[in-house]
Amino acid sequence: MQMRADQLDHVNHQIERLLRSQNFYGRRLQELGISGVSSQEDFERLPFSQKDDLRRAYPLGISAVPEEKIVRIHSSSGTTGTPVIIPYTAKDVEDWAIQFERCYRMAGVTNTDRVQITPGYGLWTAGIGFQAGCERLGAMAIPMGPGNTEKQLQFMQDLGSTVLCSTSSYALLLAEEIQKRHLEDRIHLRKGIIGSERWGARMRQRIEQGLGIKTYDIYGLTEVYGPGIGISCDQGHGMHYWDDFIYIEIIDPQTGEVLPDGETGEIVITTLVKEGAPLIRFRTHDISRIIPGECACGSKFPRLDTIVGRSDDMMKIKGVNVFPKQIEEVLQLFPQLSSEYQIHISHLEGRDTMRIYVETDGTQDFLELAGQVAHEVKSRIGFTPLVKVVELGVLPRSEKKSKRVFDERYK
Ligand code: ZN
Repeated sequence: MQMRADQLDHVNHQIERLLRSQNFYGRRLQELGISGVSSQEDFERLPFSQKDDLRRAYPLGISAVPEEKIVRIHSSSGTTGTPVIIPYTAKDVEDWAIQFERCYRMAGVTNTDRVQITPGYGLWTAGIGFQAGCERLGAMAIPMGPGNTEKQLQFMQDLGSTVLCSTSSYALLLAEEIQKRHLEDRIHLRKGIIGSERWGARMRQRIEQGLGIKTYDIYGLTEVYGPGIGISCDQGHGMHYWDDFIYIEIIDPQTGEVLPDGETGEIVITTLVKEGAPLIRFRTHDISRIIPGECACGSKFPRLDTIVGRSDDMMKIKGVNVFPKQIEEVLQLFPQLSSEYQIHISHLEGRDTMRIYVETDGTQDFLELAGQVAHEVKSRIGFTPLVKVVELGVLPRSEKKSKRVFDERYK
């Protein structure tokens, strides 16, 4: 992506701020003798920053402003090790809300909508971001938070919620509950803002049909504001991101080389105006690509394609690089399978093997179906997995992110 002059100016302001603050990246720049960049080539030589850098700066070593400017912190939900703390100034909080409001507008949400927010509130950035953007737009926020499906369904009916904000797995759970209880006629949803998970076309279809909504993918990460830095439009082909707040590069995760638009690699983000915790060339480990050209919707904001995986969940099975998304795409070829699946990778008798668990409605012999799925994976991806077919409803549903890939090789 060509870096514009105004973006380069912003980068230089960020570099000044970092040098002044002497935070981890400021010290790194100083050691390298860098006090600014004069071109995109210069910029692309700046060192990357990583989640580990932020962990090492725990608790507040990442801050790039004086204490009195910090009005809030968020923390990313690391399951192991030291958490990451991100400090926000008042301007950062406002800038995030501005971006989130744009997301709602891109999805066609208006100030007469009633927005049921099911992501969690608290240390991590989800719920409060959905809330701030909603209030800024002037819509009615219904701040449910996660779980308590009974109350979610009751409020959805009694308040006539028109927009659902949730993970894809929780949206699916709600859709299944609504069907089970025959509540379809009492639900008034029209839009779904769905974040923070990979999900396939089949699952989207089930959610859209089950809830009677059109869905939009929202993108973001705690280290860079939170959700709301990008969202898909009505065209449903990629997510527009706000390039006046962030600059995105796609790199080869192995070599760090910047890839041309259109090629798939790791998303690297530079914040252009963030004060509390500016980040230069932050490696997200999310795998996607920049979609070249302009969107048919008319928006000038550039687009990221759907996230296909994490650079760390790239699996190498029998010499073949595989992302879970590829397996999911094969499974979607079988209408008799549900949208739920699990992938287990283990090391048996000197080699890596993959077991895939899938669910079916029972219209076909389980063994025959397993054979067909294995054959399709072999012909499309290049290795033969073990496929286990189970009955519909056996695989766990989750109110949070569903864990679908289990790497058992190093236990
Ligand atoms: Zn568009």
